[in-house]
Amino acid sequence: MVWRLLATITVSALLPTLSFAIDASDRYRSPRNPERRIRSSTELIVLHTTEAAERGSLVKLCDRGEAHYCVTEAGTVYRIVDRDREAFHAGRSMWNGKEDVDKFSIGIECVGHHDKAMPEVQIAAIKTLVKELQSMYRLSDDKVVCHSHVAYGAPNKWHKTKHRGRKRCGMLFAMPSVRARLGLAKRPAYDADVRAKRLVVGDDYLRKVLYGSVDTMRSAYAKPPAAPQTSGLFSWFRRKNTPAAPAQKPTPAAQKPAPAAPKPKPAPVAKKTSVAPKPKPAPKISAAKEPSSVKELVARGYVLKGTVAKDVTASKIAGAKWNSPDTYYTIRNKVIPGNRIDQAHIEKGMCIWMKK
Ligand SMILES: [Zn+2]
Repeated sequence: MVWRLLATITVSALLPTLSFAIDASDRYRSPRNPERRIRSSTELIVLHTTEAAERGSLVKLCDRGEAHYCVTEAGTVYRIVDRDREAFHAGRSMWNGKEDVDKFSIGIECVGHHDKAMPEVQIAAIKTLVKELQSMYRLSDDKVVCHSHVAYGAPNKWHKTKHRGRKRCGMLFAMPSVRARLGLAKRPAYDADVRAKRLVVGDDYLRKVLYGSVDTMRSAYAKPPAAPQTSGLFSWFRRKNTPAAPAQKPTPAAQKPAPAAPKPKPAPVAKKTSVAPKPKPAPKISAAKEPSSVKELVARGYVLKGTVAKDVTASKIAGAKWNSPDTYYTIRNKVIPGNRIDQAHIEKGMCIWMKK
């Protein structure tokens, strides 16, 4: 009797997690998953645009673990980093006084460009994914932002202070016409970090897109979508798998993985996405692809540009490329690419390597 009761409790504790499995392909699941921390909170969904073609984007995202999901133009969703872990997607970022947005957000890369309309089927897939994540983490519409909302720049030649406007990424997702298409009724009303003078406006056009009335997508999305967005079979599957009950905030216990990610289900998505590129053998991407020693850096044509010291900052050595993926930092036998270095963790004695 007792264990029967226990079994019931266990099963019902598992239910919320099970009913929220997101349909996504694991073909580009990142090898970096095991090294990524479990996030302690989820306060934002950050939308990005890859600004590059699909295949290259997926390979790079997978290799570096730079997003939780990637949505292609055909509407295929790929899982890159497990959704309860940290993905390195936001770079130098701040939101409402909190730095390092990776620590408390989900990042979705969308194949495309920040200033170009996306195909209807892609918008539909983004909408479904965002809605599922919103209900899973109980996030209101104004918690769905784009990379430009949260990225900020360090002081430089042009801006004497920290400034908003480092990135033009995902900006179309701030525009009212696109948000309407995504079923998002609200957007952030103002920039709390600018208002509190933690940051200054560094890109006035961007400010007008994020908080003003600039909407360059209006004509593209003026009419409602023409055709049903999903096939009959697919929407049947969605209905079947969409939880009827409101989401429960995943408890820390529920968030705790299953160290291995959920196994890919025999995916209806795969069927639906026969338009997507033909399945190629999974790319063999390993951490070894990146140089892991000074010897390897030298072999690949990198030269020592300088060593960080009291008055020698990384930007003095590497200039604007200090945080580029093509710049490497080495210290105590560790090799860290520039795009993964946290400015706060640049320390004296770090060597900076760049291509000749
Ligand atoms: Zn981005």
